Amino acid sequence: MLSRKAYRLGLTGWPLGHSLSPGLHRAALHALGLEGEYRLYPIPPGDPSALAGLLGKVRSGELHGLNVTIPHKQAVITGLDRLTSLARATGAVNTVFFEGDDLVGDNTDAPGFALSLRHFLESSPQLQSTPASAANRALVLGAGGAARAVVYALVSAGWRVGVAARRVEQARALADGLQPAPAQGGPISAASLEPDAVRALVGECPPDLVVNATPAGMAPDVLSSPWPSGVCLPPRAAVYDLVYNPRETKLLREARAAGLPASGGISMLVEQAALAFERWTGRSAPREPMYAAVDETAPKGSQPRPPGSLLHEEVNA
Ligand code: NAP
Repeated sequence: MLSRKAYRLGLTGWPLGHSLSPGLHRAALHALGLEGEYRLYPIPPGDPSALAGLLGKVRSGELHGLNVTIPHKQAVITGLDRLTSLARATGAVNTVFFEGDDLVGDNTDAPGFALSLRHFLESSPQLQSTPASAANRALVLGAGGAARAVVYALVSAGWRVGVAARRVEQARALADGLQPAPAQGGPISAASLEPDAVRALVGECPPDLVVNATPAGMAPDVLSSPWPSGVCLPPRAAVYDLVYNPRETKLLREARAAGLPASGGISMLVEQAALAFERWTGRSAPREPMYAAVDETAPKGSQPRPPGSLLHEEVNA
């Protein structure tokens, strides 16, 4: 009698804290009647041999799929045989699997964001004039790994994108690294997150979409917002915050108070996980149980705490 495959999946990063990924993937396995487990493999930064050892488990078949999060999304690349075009374009890997004779690195953050943004834009009646793929303007706050995936997804869908970061040289490096490809979008511009720079940018070319790709506002720093204080949000923009802990960030509250449609990052979290699950299992991911699982486990609304509070709720992918 043939024994059924038991999927051994996992996540590496540091810190992993109360990661939501095990709950998401266990729900998907359970809903499809698949046997398996999803475990956490915390590896601190600067331990390449531990990372190589874990990749060896994927190569040997001991692990069938691995997610990678901060701070290893770039470092993991040197241990892989091949990157998908998305991983190559974004310069970051969040999903690893073995295919043929190759250890392959993929990036599901960019398509996960694109799917989530599409749901958001389609589900809000206020946004009927903001189709997901139009030559509209988007302003992305932050220029780290997640911003790179977001900018790539937006430019691929035809958005004209500006990146604003507190270190303008980081925004320039992101913009230079991603253009001219993909060809559909216009040139990516770079700016500082200083109030005067953002005020001027919003005044000259009001964006239709603002995306927060910084951790500002994430627990325990829930009283922070990446949006510069004293600057009005663009009058007709939709606001998307990648942060999902808490569900309702200060930026989202301010956007709703200004009458703007606003979305947090839970749906991107689920979509990037669903796409990784599909790479590993070859099965269509059961999104409803995955959304239900995250609804049960995600922190619903961390209470604002004063800056500098010692309590720390670390939630990483
Ligand atoms: P990252 O690589 O460390 O980049 C963070 C970026 O934000 C950098 O440009 C950083 O600038 C900037 N930044 C940090 N703190 C800031 C602040 N207080 N004000 C303004 N800018 C600030 O991190 P990442 O991987 O891009 O992740 C960014 C956020 O996205 C995290 O909260 C992460 O949880 C979230 N995320 C969500 C999903 C999802 O599925 N919803 C997926 C991926 C990431 P400096 O370099 O100057 O510090």
